[in-house]
Amino acid sequence: MKDLKLTALADRGKTIVKTGKVEIGKGLVIIAGPCSVENERQLMETTQKVKEAGADILRGGVFKPRTSPYAFQGLGLKGLKLLEKAGREFDMPVVTEVLDTRDVSWVCEYVDMLQIGARNMQNFSLLKEAGKANKPVLLKRGMHSTLHEWLNCAEYILHEGNPDVVLCERGIRTFETYTRNTLDLSAIPSCQELTHLPVLVDPSHGTGRKSLIEPMCLASAAAGADGIVVEVHIRPEEALSDKEQSLTPGEFAAIVKKVRRLQEFL
Ligand code: PEP
Ligand code: MN
Repeated sequence: MKDLKLTALADRGKTIVKTGKVEIGKGLVIIAGPCSVENERQLMETTQKVKEAGADILRGGVFKPRTSPYAFQGLGLKGLKLLEKAGREFDMPVVTEVLDTRDVSWVCEYVDMLQIGARNMQNFSLLKEAGKANKPVLLKRGMHSTLHEWLNCAEYILHEGNPDVVLCERGIRTFETYTRNTLDLSAIPSCQELTHLPVLVDPSHGTGRKSLIEPMCLASAAAGADGIVVEVHIRPEEALSDKEQSLTPGEFAAIVKKVRRLQEFL
């Protein structure tokens, strides 16, 4: 990893990434919200519930990277306007995924943080564009990427002049089929010792199973994550994407309570 400037800075103290009023890299930040923004009622009700439960940042996809072109692709601009409204109404910064270089600059007008998803981790044009943006970037780990490849992608963003990069482990592809992905918890302390960037964990995509999200949230906190990202839906059974892994607001609230209690011992 000697070729990376960001790893060379690892012992210079942690980078704190500010999005809205929230500082990532201090304490444990909780990002929650639906996989996809579906309609106003779904987003507003979900946002209210995750806020009440103690989430710090709202997530919601409006450009969805779906396996099938016939699956729900997201609401696009209409969804961004809803995210902006929900963020304002509930006083929460908002993060959403961008898939296309052409969308980076105008999407920044609606949200507080951009996400580059696992499938686009090595989309170098997108990384460079995000590096020119004036918003922090949540960079998910590609599902078949080594830490070296992942950190080089963060480096692309930093190299363009954007210092606000947050890493997010979301599971990698292995031979295991019980879980959707294999959540690599060792990536947390590895990234913490290799870089100065905050490291989050997404146990929703990391496991794809509701029952595993709580233990993986707790394990992530114990392993030194700077935060967690969890998918929550007001009515998971009706979700247009990732319904199997979406938690009810009640399930989410119970996890937040346990994670906060665990934090007192860390
Ligand atoms: C998401 O966060 O909605 C998403 C698609 O995640 P990933 O890129 O980790 O699959
Ligand atoms: Mn999802």
